[in-house]
Amino acid sequence: MKINKTSAVLVFLLFFSISVLAQKASFAYTVKMDNPEWHFFHVQLSCKGIKQDFIDFKMPAWTPGYYQKTDYGKNLERLKVTDETGKELKWEKINDNTWRVSSKNSNTVNLAYEIKTTRSFVATAYLDETRAYILPAAVFLYVDKMINQSVQVTVVPDSKWRNVATGLDSIAGKKFTYAAPDFDILYDCPILVGNLEELTPFKVKGISHRFVGFKLGDFDKQQFMLDLKKMVEAAVNIIGHIPYKSYTFIAMGPGQGGIEHLNNTTFGFNGANLNKRENYIRTLHFLAHEYFHHYNVKRIRPIELGPFDYDKGTRTKMLWISEGLSVYYEYLIVKRADISTDAELFNAFRENMIAFENKPGKHYQTLEQASNETWSDGPFGRTGDEVNKTISYYDKGPAVGLVFDLKIRHLTKNKKSLDDVMRFLYKEYYQKKKRGFSEEELRNAFETVAGRSLGDEFEYVTTTKELDYPTYFNYAGLNIDTTTQALPGAYAGFTLREREDSVFIANVDYESPGWNAGIRRGQQLVKINGDRSSANLFNKIITSARPGDKISFTLFINGQTKDVEVILGQMTEKGFKITPAGNPSPLQKQILEDWLKG
Ligand SMILES: [Zn+2]
Repeated sequence: MKINKTSAVLVFLLFFSISVLAQKASFAYTVKMDNPEWHFFHVQLSCKGIKQDFIDFKMPAWTPGYYQKTDYGKNLERLKVTDETGKELKWEKINDNTWRVSSKNSNTVNLAYEIKTTRSFVATAYLDETRAYILPAAVFLYVDKMINQSVQVTVVPDSKWRNVATGLDSIAGKKFTYAAPDFDILYDCPILVGNLEELTPFKVKGISHRFVGFKLGDFDKQQFMLDLKKMVEAAVNIIGHIPYKSYTFIAMGPGQGGIEHLNNTTFGFNGANLNKRENYIRTLHFLAHEYFHHYNVKRIRPIELGPFDYDKGTRTKMLWISEGLSVYYEYLIVKRADISTDAELFNAFRENMIAFENKPGKHYQTLEQASNETWSDGPFGRTGDEVNKTISYYDKGPAVGLVFDLKIRHLTKNKKSLDDVMRFLYKEYYQKKKRGFSEEELRNAFETVAGRSLGDEFEYVTTTKELDYPTYFNYAGLNIDTTTQALPGAYAGFTLREREDSVFIANVDYESPGWNAGIRRGQQLVKINGDRSSANLFNKIITSARPGDKISFTLFINGQTKDVEVILGQMTEKGFKITPAGNPSPLQKQILEDWLKG
């Protein structure tokens, strides 16, 4: 081949720009956990191939799935940086989560640092003498704008420990060494280390599913794995496709919370609780929720949730889909797996409805606002007096999911359902377009499946309009009792909290008798009806009182005492009991049957 001078320059430029674009850096981490009782991870990073004047290493400010700023950077201590000759390199912390290293064009930059851990929780890293939980976003630094680079991690367990559980691919021939194609995958795969127990794995559609954990407790493990398999099958039936090579349930030991990932989930788990039926169903619901998330949020996702902004967090108005509908499906999946009964399913919905409907926040905040504001409101809504102005998408979300599902089934004469919407979103956006969906595209998916506008139903998302449960339940031949029932006893509308020898006001319900008398959270309560206050005395008085009774309270506010009188009200509640209606039509019967069976 003959080339002239100009094209040689062009070829050179082309080659040069390709090589810059494809600049291949390598990142290899080693995590040690000597002296675990000190609660520090010892981390080493060997970073090669970034020849720059300086490199910005960053710690994520949050971990996807837990939509709160967690400021992991504050736990990084004793950073030391050297070049390939062992010469120390200078660094400077330029903000809360960025360390600027003067790398001076060195090919190799070695970092060594410690991560302090204080709390065992699904969204924090933790180490003690019994086990280690490496939450990658809290332990591994990334290099700004190089999140797409591959990374290798070697775990060096404490000498007493035998096992490592993670969703990361292991590297053949290298003990406890794992590879991630990019930092998104690394941050999506927590690592549990300790003497772990693995239950008998099962296969669904030929794909392996494992359950590994720390301190699993004593329970019927065989039955549990049979049910877990049925749960996975029922979830897979909804979408019809398994997108991972294997899936691992990683139980972190007793504790709260769970986080979803692409091919694994990590969660608090105490098997000893499972011997009670109610706890068993609740745990299966919880695991179905985390499992179904591998579709709904990890793959069927709002457009904002990927690529993630690890620096600032990622806001979306559609968490009611990602979280709310995952609650909706956790109940249906466990029912369709033939693990729970109809009554247990109805009761699960009922508990969410009571939680949502009996709180004043429903008049203030819409479902999409609750989604968008979760970063400032907290995962379950605001706290303090502000609790009255927020809702939880975990409560309203499943109620609205039910409304959409039954409406679509009714409109299409039971030919389509919310399952079709989920499949549509999976195929169209995850599989075909390989991205998330916008709010408009989401609405379009619902209405395409329904064959017409769902404007009335979307108002339940965008406004605080009262939900018309009876109409929707009727589509499936069910009754729901939405009348307000008077409950026995009197109602003051607030709770107390004792601290050392003092008594304080805890939560106050908005526009309750206590609220109307000026009682607010945090005030100190000195006397009740002239006697020294205590939570015991308060409970005694309230339980024997009747609506209309007056109680005097002496508060201590800003250095002064203040007497207030509260006229007790009536305790009421909407019960939301769901029962089959008599004489259902063939369509109503069919809708109910298919809704329950999938
Ligand atoms: Zn969730």
